[in-house]
Amino acid sequence: MLGYYGSYDVVVCGGGTSGVTAAVAAARTGAKTLLIERTGQLGGQMNFSGPPGFAYAWLFNAYHEQVVGGFADETYKRLLETGHALPHTLTDWRAAYTFSYIDPDWWGLLVYQILTDEKAEMMLHSLVTEVIRDGNTVKGVVVEHPSGRSIVLAKVVIDCTGEGEVCYQAGAEYEIQPKELLEPATVAFTADGVDWDEVLRYVKDNIKDFLFEQARFEERGYTREEVEEAVKNTNNIVDIGEIMGYISLRDQGIKTGEWHGQSGVGFFLMPKGGKILAHFQHSSHVGNADCTDVRDITRAEVECRRLDVIAFNFFKKHIPGFENAYITRVCPETRIRETRRIMGDYKIVYQDIYESRKFSDVIGKSPFVIGNRHAVGNTALVPVNTQRPPDKGSHDIPYRSLVPLGLENILVAGKAISAEWQCHHRFLMETMVTGQAAGVAAGLCAQKGITPREMEKDVSELQDILQKQGAILYGTR
Ligand SMILES: Cc1cc2nc3c(=O)[nH]c(=O)nc-3n(C[C@H](O)[C@H](O)[C@H](O)COP(=O)(O)OP(=O)(O)OC[C@H]3O[C@@H](n4cnc5c(N)ncnc54)[C@H](O)[C@@H]3O)c2cc1C
Repeated sequence: MLGYYGSYDVVVCGGGTSGVTAAVAAARTGAKTLLIERTGQLGGQMNFSGPPGFAYAWLFNAYHEQVVGGFADETYKRLLETGHALPHTLTDWRAAYTFSYIDPDWWGLLVYQILTDEKAEMMLHSLVTEVIRDGNTVKGVVVEHPSGRSIVLAKVVIDCTGEGEVCYQAGAEYEIQPKELLEPATVAFTADGVDWDEVLRYVKDNIKDFLFEQARFEERGYTREEVEEAVKNTNNIVDIGEIMGYISLRDQGIKTGEWHGQSGVGFFLMPKGGKILAHFQHSSHVGNADCTDVRDITRAEVECRRLDVIAFNFFKKHIPGFENAYITRVCPETRIRETRRIMGDYKIVYQDIYESRKFSDVIGKSPFVIGNRHAVGNTALVPVNTQRPPDKGSHDIPYRSLVPLGLENILVAGKAISAEWQCHHRFLMETMVTGQAAGVAAGLCAQKGITPREMEKDVSELQDILQKQGAILYGTR
């Protein structure tokens, strides 16, 4: 039976990083806000099917100027104050992948408190299955949950499902890469019991076997030799960040069949209660999987776990420092890197990022590169036409990329925003930037009785509020 649940100013669908941020931002404008999430856990790929190896990463550009503020910065600072984050790791040779490590589980615990304090309502264990429309105007959603099916009405709906699920249900235009070109899916896991002195010793003694190029150290004026020297001189594993390579051991493992060869050998770091854990988010890569297809996502879930077992056994047996390691968590579901991108009134294109373009309707920034992609194979990252802007700065994200083409009263935030495939805005801090902007915009639209598209004519109030909420819109490269 279909019941009526309620009527809201803003309904946010999906409680990952974009959705939580959007709900908090909307509630802070005074909007009556509901956040609907499929599971009981808020955070999505941050702490449920996550964390990412780098949470947070890329809050800074190559000049080490902070370019991402807002809710990402607010939660980072609150976690730092309570001992659940590490100081920004602005290792001098890192232009890219600067780290601002947080404990993702504590992020998850914190956001329930913030949502409660801001009086944003939550509807958990609830799957949005349909969109209620009047022509092209979205009026609300239908939700399935333990007590049946309900209608939820909204002045503005925000799609934060990661996969653009709600926009898709509403008939939005979208793009998706051919299946064989989509980035692979991964089930991540975390391990404790690592002997970090031994890990560091091995890295230093076999430095040529490790990959540091992802940090784009040349943009900070470093040579590979200087980076190797810096790594040899540190006693803090956190300075290195991602430990990726083990090339000789990997190649040996491929020969003996002990390494699966579907991804590179390495891991990331996670702070936890004063300790550092090893987090494996690239140790299973399952390709040719369109995770909007139930057969593909099921295959990915099974295959990722098979690869994870091989990967962990390989680490225990062959990687110095992991002899006594043990898994503390296997993420409950596969993490999806790439699916649909919802086409909006503006599509972010290659030149926007390459030229660090600035937009008059800027709602936030990102220093992320173009074309850094994962693929199945021996290395973690396969750069496809990877480019950093020659000025080493960051690009603006325009408000119009959150407004789905041809639909009214709906916004999209998170990794499904409107962009070309190589400009996919999937990095976690980007999802919080767009979530915050969508939340404020939706709250303002509800207050003023205008549609998100009408707001495109004048975004000045949106920009003012975002800046008051700590977002960084201007004044950086
Ligand atoms: C393996 C992997 C490694 C990564 N590494 C990094 C990294 O190192 N650094 C980095 O910054 N980023 C990284 N990312 C990217 C980043 O983690 C994600 O892109 C980002 O967290 C996505 O946020 P989101 O809010 O858009 O979506 P999600 O986190 O996916 O949130 C979507 C939420 O919507 C809910 N939902 C979905 N459908 C419905 C529905 N119909 N009804 C109700 N709820 C629904 C889901 O349950 C989920 O909670 C990585 C991603 C992957 C897959």
